[in-house]
Amino acid sequence: MAATWVALLGASAAPHLPVSGADPARHGSGALLRTARTTPADTVLRIIFLDVGQGDAVLIRAPEGQTALVDAGPGDIVPLLRALGVERIDLLVATHPHADHIGGIAGVIEAFPVRFYMDNGDPHTTRSYRRVLSALDARPGISYLEASPRTISLGSASIEVLPLLPRGTAGLNDRSVALVLRFGDFEAFLSGDSEVRQLTHLVGLQAVPDVALLKAAHHGSDNGFTWEFLNAAAPEVVVVSVGRDNGYGHPRPEALAAYRSVGATVLRTDLHGHVEIRGRVNGSYHVAPERQVVAHAGAEPHLSAVPRTAARLRLRVHADAPGNDHQNPNGEYAVLESAEDGDRALGGWRLCDAANHCFHFPPGSVLKAGGRIVVHTGAGRADGQRYYMGHRRAVWNNAGDTATLYDGTGAAVVVFSY
Ligand SMILES: [Zn+2]
Repeated sequence: MAATWVALLGASAAPHLPVSGADPARHGSGALLRTARTTPADTVLRIIFLDVGQGDAVLIRAPEGQTALVDAGPGDIVPLLRALGVERIDLLVATHPHADHIGGIAGVIEAFPVRFYMDNGDPHTTRSYRRVLSALDARPGISYLEASPRTISLGSASIEVLPLLPRGTAGLNDRSVALVLRFGDFEAFLSGDSEVRQLTHLVGLQAVPDVALLKAAHHGSDNGFTWEFLNAAAPEVVVVSVGRDNGYGHPRPEALAAYRSVGATVLRTDLHGHVEIRGRVNGSYHVAPERQVVAHAGAEPHLSAVPRTAARLRLRVHADAPGNDHQNPNGEYAVLESAEDGDRALGGWRLCDAANHCFHFPPGSVLKAGGRIVVHTGAGRADGQRYYMGHRRAVWNNAGDTATLYDGTGAAVVVFSY
């Protein structure tokens, strides 16, 4: 497979240099750029799924500040990008020319310096597509990249562009630009609105790595996953970019159930707002939703179906035990508080950290109305108000972690990141 490197090593880096001949990242060339620099262990690759209603816009920020934007939602996202501190876009990607992905692209091109623009090369006839073309025409300094297999460095992170189905053999969704983001051992998979055909194609090419993070293809449609794909990707976190009460019925219950059945935590822009994942070189990551979600036990966490005042649970974590955390596992604990009017049965619920150390609440566990429950990390005898995970060592990372409370159906009810 021919591949091209494009280095995006910073605004001051000289020439755009498509260097050809290197192998794709999975054959080891991903290390080429990383050996050139040392990445401090505390730096993160930030991937922010922007809440743009029914559509996609994913902002990617390398530890060194380089910025990529994959799709730009249906409308104007310039004010949002400015509010997030974006000043330039090193790589702008249009996954496919549907308006819920490219509606905001022309505005981005007009508002920010953009270095590279990538799409799948498929022409389209819509007004939003023509607007993109004229915006590009007015900015001849932007370098065009067709989405052929190549790896693009974004600071110390990299973006692998996967092979597309041949032009003319697939619908627009099934020619979505598909990307694997890598930052050390942290990997994420984005593929626009790809459907069964494209996902099957990519699995057949063995181009789907085991990833921590997956953007649900096609807004969580039931044609946006296959079991073979999910088994290959084995995502731990799935983010669905979707508008509240959209007319398509996205996300579909079958897709949500499939994501959960492979063990993934599902976050949704319609419920959680902007969803930020911070990946680290060692493969660990943190999930930082803009909003915590509160939902009824057993129900899909869908705010429109849940009276906002009905379920109010609060979760926090006291991660820093007195003394050496590992010698004092009961010195760290999670606190679950109720501001509800009724008691809540927690039997079958679980509380997990980002590394998926989970405590399973035993049958009969009850959180009293207005009450609190403390879950210690170490060993002890549960008394209905204090529970013990039974670990010999600390679980909650002092430098930051994510606690997620799942109900008996596996739905994330409360997510707390610190
Ligand atoms: Zn779409």
